[in-house]
Amino acid sequence: MTTARALRGPFDYRLPLELREAVNVGSMLVVPFGRREILGVVTALSEHSDISTEKLLEPLRALDQGPPTLPLELLALAEWLADEYCSTLARALTLVLPPAATRRLSGRKRRLAPARAQNISVGARSATAPELTVEQAEALADLSDALGEPSAQTRLLAGITGSGKTEVYLRIAAQALERGRGVIVLVPEIALTPQIVSRFLDRFGETVAVLHSRLTIAQRREEWRRLRVGEARVCVGPRSAVFAPVERLGLIVVDEEHDSSYKHEGDPRYDARTVAARRASDSDALLLLGSATPRPESAHATADRPATTVALDASREHPGGNDRSHRADRPRSSGLLRLSRRVDGRPLPQVSVLDMCGHPHGLHPLTSSALAEVRATRGKAIVLLNRRGWSNFLTCRSCGRVWGCPQCDVALVLHRASATVACHHCGHRERTPTRCTCGSTSVARHGTGTERLQHDLIATLDDGEFPVFRLDADTVGDGGGGAPQSSGGGVARLLSRFQKAPAGVLIGTQMVAKGHDFPDVTLGVVLDADATLRFPDFRAEERTFALITQLAGRVGRGGEGRVLVQTIAPNARSIVHAANHDSDGFLAGELQRRHALRYPPYSSLIRVVCAAEHDAHARAAAESVRAAIVAEADILGPASLFRLRGRERRVLVVKAPPARRAAVIGSVGEAVRSVATGRTHANVNFSVDVDPQ
Ligand code: ADP
Ligand code: ZN
Ligand code: ZN
Repeated sequence: MTTARALRGPFDYRLPLELREAVNVGSMLVVPFGRREILGVVTALSEHSDISTEKLLEPLRALDQGPPTLPLELLALAEWLADEYCSTLARALTLVLPPAATRRLSGRKRRLAPARAQNISVGARSATAPELTVEQAEALADLSDALGEPSAQTRLLAGITGSGKTEVYLRIAAQALERGRGVIVLVPEIALTPQIVSRFLDRFGETVAVLHSRLTIAQRREEWRRLRVGEARVCVGPRSAVFAPVERLGLIVVDEEHDSSYKHEGDPRYDARTVAARRASDSDALLLLGSATPRPESAHATADRPATTVALDASREHPGGNDRSHRADRPRSSGLLRLSRRVDGRPLPQVSVLDMCGHPHGLHPLTSSALAEVRATRGKAIVLLNRRGWSNFLTCRSCGRVWGCPQCDVALVLHRASATVACHHCGHRERTPTRCTCGSTSVARHGTGTERLQHDLIATLDDGEFPVFRLDADTVGDGGGGAPQSSGGGVARLLSRFQKAPAGVLIGTQMVAKGHDFPDVTLGVVLDADATLRFPDFRAEERTFALITQLAGRVGRGGEGRVLVQTIAPNARSIVHAANHDSDGFLAGELQRRHALRYPPYSSLIRVVCAAEHDAHARAAAESVRAAIVAEADILGPASLFRLRGRERRVLVVKAPPARRAAVIGSVGEAVRSVATGRTHANVNFSVDVDPQ
């Protein structure tokens, strides 16, 4: 969020003699600011200031008992982040500072002697390294060479689910440590992928620092300190771990690199994958992206490109537009590594697409019988339905009214357990209506969410020994506005209950498709697979493909398995390719489509959203921003977005050719700043999202 009130900085202070010895670039100081005391980070030391010496204020003190200084590399990274994401240095610094450094100023009680993190453990663990498969060994050999290169390298490990990618990460991490280099391992969400964390802990012990949302601030600070002083050399964590103060960084692993949780939705709206690429480049480190469903962007950046594609790209890019960009415009050798077989040769499950035309609701007869069979054989199944709640919306049978959110232009979703209808965008809740304003008491419920599905499956399947578990934001304790980062405890407990149960079904939202490794799941079901396709978003196909493929990846790990995909769009490209386990085919088609439409990776997108009470204001502000963008770029909009939290919204989408990315970002940032600080649009909020997800 860029507003007129955002602190810009840096600000000058006069350093008193007694602090001169102790203070360096990267030091943290408590400084007076207006009437407040705030945390300041020293970004530069200078003999001169544009402000006269008498007017300069002095810092009050150095941050007491603080951790060591901020590494210079992270200070530079924050400066880059501020530009790259149209934010401010102050905001960017909050990402790289030690946990809660700012909060300590408010005099909160500190916990003494922080305990090391308790680690969640689900799944098999073994500290001994297995012998590598041929494919793993080949991949490792290439990575080993890449690690030895003096300059930064990028590799994409495209390995099908269960092909042993984690073992490759562990081996290359061990090599980085042997070379005296530090390691960062990014995972989508610790709670959903605890196995990878325990495997790093088992292999490397105390030298691993784990950062996750369940740690107290004191624990996080302790992990930060251990990394900063070199007691820990490997950091495993979600997207924010990309800012870990790892010294002599030699390797960054991004596991499940397709996962959208790598994008941060607060200010600055950074993408941990882009930041990882930048850090790798700054440290001459190896960036290793891993996934069974790589992003088109990553496949494009690491593939041998046929000459025609290169020529087409080149014609659109400005040869002179050198903007220190660290991305696709830089020539690279092929960085694609494949693991095409599951470890020990188990096949991928057979995927059948079930056409739901003619069965608009509920389960296809084949799905019902497959579930019944799993119950009869005391097996396990996973069912994915990417929609929370009981039913999607309510209408009045008499006047047709749809119950909507008073703050947002979206329908309220019924949550039966809490007897409420809720807005999944702003968190608004009200009691379930029993009567319409027209007087009718006949309220119809439409559609099925996970809550109702669980209820229906319990009714048909649960005989006391075949439990139906539900994993979604409501059952693991962070319902409401659809918070993406779930609180870890509930997820870990639920997954562990499903793992320990001798038989049963796990149903849930996309959470059930993430990287768990349960050996005894023999059936996977995707309901309403085209739901994600209906989103008006150029990533809809990519998401749908990934969701089905990832769910299939949870199935048949211990032997036979099969997957059923219910859809009303059985011929959709993403669904057909997912059913054929054809990642290459999907990526090739997707890259062609993106090229034709000039979507990423053939351009960078920047979204500017203007929100105001009245649409006319939002629209006028968006028009002004549009007019103020001086860089040469395609600009779409202002288009309307649905009203959110009581604000009407207009959006501009700016498409920048890869070679002019930095110039266009700079120009958009400048345009928004000038419009936001002017008086004309005082009641409008502006937000800029570079590389929106
Ligand atoms: P992926 O991340 O590619 O889905 P994993 O890394 O989770 O796959 O590996 C799947 C399983 O195979 C894990 O239980 C892992 O311990 C095991 N595994 C990995 N490599 C080997 C190997 N070379 N030999 C035997 N088992 C292995
Ligand atoms: Zn009515
Ligand atoms: Zn709402």
